Amino acid sequence: MAKPRTAPEEAEGPEAAFTRPWHFVMGVAGLEQLPAADRPEVAFAGRSNVGKSSLINALVRQHGLARTSNTPGRTQELNYFAAEIATVYIVDLPGYGFAQAPKEKVETWTRLVKDYLRGRRTLARVYMLIDARHGIKAVDEEIMKILDEAAVSYQIVLTKLDKVKPQAVEPLIARTVAALAMHPAAYPEVAATSSVDGRGIEELREVIVAAMRGG
Ligand code: GDP
Repeated sequence: MAKPRTAPEEAEGPEAAFTRPWHFVMGVAGLEQLPAADRPEVAFAGRSNVGKSSLINALVRQHGLARTSNTPGRTQELNYFAAEIATVYIVDLPGYGFAQAPKEKVETWTRLVKDYLRGRRTLARVYMLIDARHGIKAVDEEIMKILDEAAVSYQIVLTKLDKVKPQAVEPLIARTVAALAMHPAAYPEVAATSSVDGRGIEELREVIVAAMRGG
């Protein structure tokens, strides 16, 4: 019998993922709808309007893959994306922290995301997006607490760096790193990005690939 050939995607590894076309796989409104846990996945979390869709689109070099928070229907779901020859998933978590969100909406979000974060065994890392102009807010701290308690590895990613004065960037990163000392599951380094001028995007691709490999 012929020896089974190694699939090309296995041979190339996850770093090849960022050079391939990605597509929307499914929106998950309840945990029973999750796709099979058959590959590593990384999830992106952040307050509504933090720049999450823009960052995902910049990472995969595909404008329009992740839709903005304003896209009706997708805002309360875990959105799964895969590359054409898929070895990993990117999961776009629904944005949190709407100023006027109804209480039951917030509760639904919290329950779905908490259950996902606690129970998804193939979740390699969560990227917690923080607007560089605003820093870590109480609502972000709540999510970080969930991640700490669930022992889910996460990394802070500052977004919209182009909106911050150049001389303020280093102190901002230092402040953010210092704040992480209180968070046991947080990765000790902070990524600093701008989807507008492309700063930090390539570096973030590299750490994501490492995380997908379990590094
Ligand atoms: P989401 O709600 O977190 O998915 O955020 P979006 O990606 O939809 O972005 C929210 C708003 O911030 C939009 O008006 C974007 O154009 C803007 N935005 C996103 N990323 C950046 C960035 O890196 N720099 C700047 N200046 N604006 C950004």
